[in-house]
Amino acid sequence: MYCVVCWNQDTKVIDSRVSDDWKAIRRRRECENCHNRFTTFEKIEVINLVVEKSGNRKERYNREKLEDSILKAVNKRKISVMAINSVLGQLELKWTHKSEISSKEIWREVMNALLALDEVAYIRYASVHLNFETAKDFIDFIQEKIKK
Ligand SMILES: [Zn+2]
Repeated sequence: MYCVVCWNQDTKVIDSRVSDDWKAIRRRRECENCHNRFTTFEKIEVINLVVEKSGNRKERYNREKLEDSILKAVNKRKISVMAINSVLGQLELKWTHKSEISSKEIWREVMNALLALDEVAYIRYASVHLNFETAKDFIDFIQEKIKK
């Protein structure tokens, strides 16, 4: 990393910390020549994935959007933002070789991951994405899961 003041190539990292949202690493660097200090951010690479939705609609995969839908499902549950980011990171790693994925497949994978974390969050997420409309839909879904 070049120094932005004197263009010296030797800069050393004096401090590294994870950003508040756990999505980036912030590094304080110091130039060994002029002692200028500056900050760099290391971000998670965004995967290049197209999501196929119902009615042949396509849109670019958006991690924030998927994260928001999971955050709604885990509201007031004891699940850390870190755990959710870890789930998303693992899923994205699994999807990196793909160029397209259906939204249904995304939901299925997220549901499986949530099931391992928290059953209430799992059922909430399923209720939104499988379009539960009545209490009976919830009961049928839960009974079917218990049978398995
Ligand atoms: Zn410098």
